[in-house]
Amino acid sequence: MSPHLTAAPLPSVRVRAPGKVNLSLRVGALQDDGYHPLVTIFQAVGLSEEVVAHQVPAGAGVSLGVTGLQAELVPTDRSNLAWGAAEALAAHVGIDPDVRLEIVKEVPVAGGMAGGSADAAAALVACDALWETHVPRSELLELAAGLGSDVAFGLVGHTAVGTGRGHALTPAMVRGEFHWVFAASREGLSTPAVFRAFDESAAAASELELADDTALMQALRAGDPVGLGQTLHNELQDAAISLRPALGRTIDLALDAGALGAIVSGSGPTVAALARSRQHALAIGAHWTAEDACDAVYCTTAPAAGARVVPRASRE
Ligand code: ATP
Repeated sequence: MSPHLTAAPLPSVRVRAPGKVNLSLRVGALQDDGYHPLVTIFQAVGLSEEVVAHQVPAGAGVSLGVTGLQAELVPTDRSNLAWGAAEALAAHVGIDPDVRLEIVKEVPVAGGMAGGSADAAAALVACDALWETHVPRSELLELAAGLGSDVAFGLVGHTAVGTGRGHALTPAMVRGEFHWVFAASREGLSTPAVFRAFDESAAAASELELADDTALMQALRAGDPVGLGQTLHNELQDAAISLRPALGRTIDLALDAGALGAIVSGSGPTVAALARSRQHALAIGAHWTAEDACDAVYCTTAPAAGARVVPRASRE
């Protein structure tokens, strides 16, 4: 065949969505519907997932591949949250879900940093653009909330207060940039197992009060990392440490290295430490590595943007 007659490649859309750390995570008592009410302050971080949605012939259905960090731990069938997101969007607009999704992971798997949720948020945005379905933002947010507690935050990014199951979001005012360093473990922690340990061990607060985070919100507005470090708060932390006692030492090591604050990220097992600068973040990471406290260290800044299409011109 003449090269001039070669078929043009089918279109694709590349989207990035951020992982998160919970600056504050307050957990209410287990409700009859099986969920815990939450009040949480999410911050999106510079570790991000990439999802590329490729056009496929009509009737091909959904298929999915995963590469990058810990890709071997991630399902490539319909149990993948990104696959569910593509199906949910297609059902919402009444079309067949025909797409090839390629996920490139950068967020530790089952690490309490919502990497899977970021994939789902990215898949929603990528499929909406690929299929030219132009779903209004409010409807994408509703679809996201139906897919999982952290998916809507993956769409919104930056810093936001989440209530309910964590999916009703209000943006928070933040000045400046914060330096984070994460200690990741190869072996994840199951979020439901951490909630079960929480139910068994802690007297969950019956009333959740956002007022408890006033000092943290002030530190964010002032761009004050010292104030933020002092007010980091995670009510799942003791439950995560009860399942993985080494996490307590990882936190102590970060504080020994001068971290402004250190907490378990979400349901763990990743530990997040707030640093004064990038150099300081590297020093905390080096201390963890020297003490053999984790399997990998990641330095990054926050807040980061929510799921967004990567323009063709800016692709490597
Ligand atoms: P969260 O803090 O939102 O509970 P997490 O960050 O602890 O999540 P994830 O990496 O999002 O954990 O995934 C948890 C589990 O979900 C994994 O062990 C995996 O089996 C499954 N999973 C489904 N889809 C994905 C995906 N796209 N990426 C990673 N894990 C996925």
